[in-house]
Amino acid sequence: MKKNNFFFTVDVEEWFASTKILSLDKNAVYENSSDTVETMTWLIHLLNKYNIRGTFFFITTIAKRHPELVHMLLEKGHEIALHGMTHEHLNHVTSDAFASMVRQAQQLFQQRFGITLYGYRAPYFSINEQALRVLKTAHFLYDSSVVPSLRIPGWYGVPRAPRVPYKIGNTLESESAQSTFTEFPLSVHPTFRLPGLGGYYFRNLGFFWTRHLLNICMEQLGYAIFYLHPWELSLTIPKLRGMPFYMHRKTGAWTREALESLLKMMKHSSNGETIPLSAYCKSHAQ
Ligand SMILES: [Zn+2]
Repeated sequence: MKKNNFFFTVDVEEWFASTKILSLDKNAVYENSSDTVETMTWLIHLLNKYNIRGTFFFITTIAKRHPELVHMLLEKGHEIALHGMTHEHLNHVTSDAFASMVRQAQQLFQQRFGITLYGYRAPYFSINEQALRVLKTAHFLYDSSVVPSLRIPGWYGVPRAPRVPYKIGNTLESESAQSTFTEFPLSVHPTFRLPGLGGYYFRNLGFFWTRHLLNICMEQLGYAIFYLHPWELSLTIPKLRGMPFYMHRKTGAWTREALESLLKMMKHSSNGETIPLSAYCKSHAQ
């Protein structure tokens, strides 16, 4: 593969999408506390400044509630991909329910925005083999949910999976030359297989760790994928009682500033061009 492949991805969900938040108060309604339009608008301007075209994995309710965001992204050459209709862990979703969700999402984006969905990222990186089969049947080109890290109990980890994009076979870690479906694994430390290039890790492990990981992935693998949630840029996220500190720590001003420093650095080390994941798949189709 061509060296220096840096990808920028965003999981477009709200700060209360996590079951950890939803379980704090089952009766709470948080919809009006979201500032997704403000954070996304800020992010779109930032990416534009650094000539980065990213991939945005949407929870479909946000696309329905804020169609202007989808239009803004498309206009700037970003890709719209799928994160789900809801943010449910795939362990709790049957294969039939998943297939129906994928079908409905395809119809929604086709009918309302005239676009085809090519990519998927599972909530909590909870991809499994059944879901992969459904995506392949539904003519998706790629998934980006495998974390090739050491196994982290209760979270994720597919320690034998490749650390660079691969044509995925029938299991999460297998490669198949016949496959036309690409897996973009999340970035992990090339030697120690520790995860960390984005989101919670970025804010909690800090800028220097992220920069180190990014540099070492690019140097050794020629590939790095960064991910973020729009709510991590929020200046108004509420700190609820019982909310784990790592969920709101350094959200807002710190993340905005650190993200800009990171992108400035990438501008010099990624050949100056960052493209969406489907564009990579199309340029590498056999
Ligand atoms: Zn998510």
